[in-house]
Amino acid sequence: MSGNKKKSGFVAIISAIIAVAALIIIMSVVGSPTGNTPHLAEGTQTATTQADDNKDSKEASESEKADKKSDEAKESDKDDEKETTEASSSSKSKMGGIHPDFLDDAIKTEKNAKKKVYLTFDDGPSKYTDEVLDVLDKYDVKATFFNVSAGNSKYLDSEKKTYEKGHTIAIHTKSHEYDEVYGSFENWKADVLAQQESMEENTGTITKFYRFPGGSSNTMGVKYGTDIHDCVDWLEKNGYEYYDWNVSNDDSEGVAYSPSELANNVLDYIGDGDEYMVLMHDTGAKENTLKSLPIIIEELKDRGFTLCQITENTSPYHHRIYGDSE
Ligand SMILES: [Zn+2]
Repeated sequence: MSGNKKKSGFVAIISAIIAVAALIIIMSVVGSPTGNTPHLAEGTQTATTQADDNKDSKEASESEKADKKSDEAKESDKDDEKETTEASSSSKSKMGGIHPDFLDDAIKTEKNAKKKVYLTFDDGPSKYTDEVLDVLDKYDVKATFFNVSAGNSKYLDSEKKTYEKGHTIAIHTKSHEYDEVYGSFENWKADVLAQQESMEENTGTITKFYRFPGGSSNTMGVKYGTDIHDCVDWLEKNGYEYYDWNVSNDDSEGVAYSPSELANNVLDYIGDGDEYMVLMHDTGAKENTLKSLPIIIEELKDRGFTLCQITENTSPYHHRIYGDSE
């Protein structure tokens, strides 16, 4: 008995020595904390990168959540056609911007449409947004809203309502001040992220649908020092998509068009093609745009078009970047 006790005591001492030796070896390999301190500049860099990473991982976890939701939706929707189920696969919800309750319908509507018109509203929300939503409700159509937050804080409830009613909400710009937005690539990126964050705070969705202020063909990039190609690269690498337009109602041209003139500006350009992306504006000065909507929607329905909202499946219409050859 006593011999065994002695033996186990000896083993314990040897184990302790081994443990201490191992600790010393590990510490010498890892090195002292001061030995690894980066230069100040690099440290700053690291902090920035970490901030970006945090944001990225936040986005990643958000989209994982969305993926999960979409998977659950898939499970509960087995009666639907297989094709439709595939259309709502996990990759489809990574761009946010559409309330999950409406996502499948949005995708289905677009998929089943032969001739499509996408009504898009820039620069809102505004005092007319609720009325725009009422008109869209009346005709049971969905649209896309490229929003701005600076100056529009009074109408954040309308932005939320837009999202909750199932329309696509998208990033336009936080400030809409061209010299600021296009002052540098970093400015531009900060503007996109700030608007995205503002919309996330208000609605809970992280939207990755984007429209350049002035369109991707704008001359402001060149004027103020941002290469739009860099912006496009960044959008592509980070899972965003941008949408220009091929029809405009010209409500930002400084002409006091009547509702029927605004409607004709749109309808005259919509011909035999299959897809049209229509630019309009949602600001406090665009009452006539609001009034033109019933004319546009009724006529387009008569012509056999389906009014769609932008989804992940929408083929984006891109302008030629200013300075590129044709
Ligand atoms: Zn705008």
